[in-house]
Amino acid sequence: MRFVRTFHSVGHGAFYTERFYDDSYNNPQNVANFVYDCGSITDLQKLQQEINREFNQGTKIINAVFISHFHEDHINGLGHLLGNCTVQNIVIPKMPQDFIIYAMIQNALIQKGGPSSTANDILSSILSEEGHNNEEFQIVQIGEDDDNDTTLKGLLPPSVKDIWEYRALVLTCKSQKYKNRLHSLTQSLQQDAIFRTAFKSNGIIDYPKFNHLLKNNNNLSHLRGLVSQYNLNGNHYNMVVGSEPTDKTLHMGCLFTGDAMLKCKSRMKQLVGKYAVNSSLYHCLQVPHHGVVGDNHNAQLYTSPKECIVSVKDGDPNRPAATVKNDITINGGNCVKVTEKTNNLQYQHTL
Ligand SMILES: [Zn+2]
Repeated sequence: MRFVRTFHSVGHGAFYTERFYDDSYNNPQNVANFVYDCGSITDLQKLQQEINREFNQGTKIINAVFISHFHEDHINGLGHLLGNCTVQNIVIPKMPQDFIIYAMIQNALIQKGGPSSTANDILSSILSEEGHNNEEFQIVQIGEDDDNDTTLKGLLPPSVKDIWEYRALVLTCKSQKYKNRLHSLTQSLQQDAIFRTAFKSNGIIDYPKFNHLLKNNNNLSHLRGLVSQYNLNGNHYNMVVGSEPTDKTLHMGCLFTGDAMLKCKSRMKQLVGKYAVNSSLYHCLQVPHHGVVGDNHNAQLYTSPKECIVSVKDGDPNRPAATVKNDITINGGNCVKVTEKTNNLQYQHTL
């Protein structure tokens, strides 16, 4: 089996593909495809071209798309992917309603070109029952405490099942104070003259309706004032995925970390506990959060020489941060930037 992993050059975003080919036939057969994240805030058109180019050969069936979290730069290309390929499963972190509401607000407020968020359109459609029942894909939600590895094993086709696995971990915010602030935001929306119309009488939000309200400029400026009272920020739900051969002696794995905020010691401990980050299992590491988070705890990630890939916009002065580059280099790793101006970065292995 031939395995091809590609870090696509889409600037500040994330679009990573893993494809399996059985070369024992006269014509190599593309037997399985996986995607981790699908977004770009540098150049969405380039990402869409990249999707077309990547999936114009072989099968257009994607066994699973993993979405680390719901921010624009990781999800805004998903609609195009769904329109061009047959996606069987979308694997997402299981998140409480309070947090999804806040993520949608973040997406709406960062839009520079007007009140329209591609990520929110996709998110509200996959989260609304009516929306995704009409689609071909299945939504697989990964909880923070569940044994997810068995569930993910079930997504692999027979030809790959014995040689490969995906293991997911959802890193969340354990702070009760933060959760309380998030909940207060939801409560104030429920009492707000405009936004209360998006809630059903049982307190459950209607995501498409909420998304519709977020497309109005007046509503957005009103919301900006409301949100600023709650001191919320960052990305506190993020799904990390280890993509690994079942034979742990093979140096072929990749740890996809999305935008995990690993300054938090307990999250780093969870990560190290689940994945042997300092072993030779992982050949590649997707550097968390576009390399912006530099602190001592992260150095543990780089203790085994590996390819450390940072997805950034060309010329970004802060990403990767100097401390991150330093941590990688002093631990013998190779810090590789993939921007909208570089070539795709590709690794091939034979299993
Ligand atoms: Zn990001």
